[in-house]
Amino acid sequence: DDPLDPHAHVGDLAAESALRPPSLAEFKGQPRVAEQLELVLTAAQRRGRVPDHVLLSGPPGLGKTTLAMIIANEIGVPLRISSGPAIQHAGDLAAILSGLSEGEVFFLDEIHRMSRPAEEMLYLAMEDFRVDIIVGKGPGATEIPLEIPPFTLVGATTRAGLLPGPLRDRFGFTGQLDYYETDALVGIVERSASLLGIAIDRTSATVIASRSRGTPRIANRLLRRVRDYALVRRNGRIDPAVASEALTLYEVDELGLDRLDRAVLEAVCTRFGGGPVGLSTLAMSVGEETETVEEVAEPFLIRQGFLMRTPRGRVATPRAWQHLGLSAPRVEGT
Ligand code: ATP
Repeated sequence: DDPLDPHAHVGDLAAESALRPPSLAEFKGQPRVAEQLELVLTAAQRRGRVPDHVLLSGPPGLGKTTLAMIIANEIGVPLRISSGPAIQHAGDLAAILSGLSEGEVFFLDEIHRMSRPAEEMLYLAMEDFRVDIIVGKGPGATEIPLEIPPFTLVGATTRAGLLPGPLRDRFGFTGQLDYYETDALVGIVERSASLLGIAIDRTSATVIASRSRGTPRIANRLLRRVRDYALVRRNGRIDPAVASEALTLYEVDELGLDRLDRAVLEAVCTRFGGGPVGLSTLAMSVGEETETVEEVAEPFLIRQGFLMRTPRGRVATPRAWQHLGLSAPRVEGT
């Protein structure tokens, strides 16, 4: 279990769900998305309709699953969960959709990784609450339309741009989740600490929050690691010095960059002279999947002003060189 991997769920699932805020009122951060979503849900309730389909996009660990659970909670309906990679055949999707009860929320994680035929079935289901089941094979095959009860699809993706236009267009609302502000993360760390029975002061919570890559999942995880460190290496009490020692041990730096973030920056600067370097070359040189570099490391590095995406490849900014303690090569004209 890598405490810094915003993707990693394994072994942490129970711990994670215990910390999930159950309502919009307890959901901290993302004020714009939360307010927009609240409107969508309230309006649907007043009109006595199921809410429009919702698409949530953003890097891993920012609360997409949490928001899907909140949507179901707020309207008081059950939640069904599946993911794009789990639905390879249209038949898998047909089975899920036809088993939904009226008004249910269907959460489809990694929706951009569904197979083409399943995607096409989903369009129809979203629009007309209908699926066409194919019976038989070859020229004798026939399509039998099957009505399904109205439901709300909550799709999650790391980037809305990965979805084909026709699918994207069928969502009535798209919430773009962004990295959290430190203040919101402080609130999340304090809430989690109190749920876990960990005593923590505001300054220590801020140390953890400001080094969590703007990501609640990482903030919660680092909180537990700081607790462990305090328990094993100290007398169990957390103070700001203990928190920052613990985070240094876990290789999170003062700006929240983790091992992968730094490996990417170091590769761009030292191996490729600051760039531009293509994404796949970069991924290969840090020994990671292209997807991980593109969807996990890059968005944070770009957001923090360390990296730029240009048509010719990734380029390190002066801030990156400075952060790594390196001097940038002189560029003509500067
Ligand atoms: P992935 O796409 O990788 O599954 P996700 O975006 O669905 O990630 P969640 O699983 O919803 O992320 O959230 C990760 C963890 O962060 C959860 O344990 C949840 O408790 C916590 N969390 C997320 N958002 C918030 C929030 N706004 N307030 C408090 N805790 C949060």
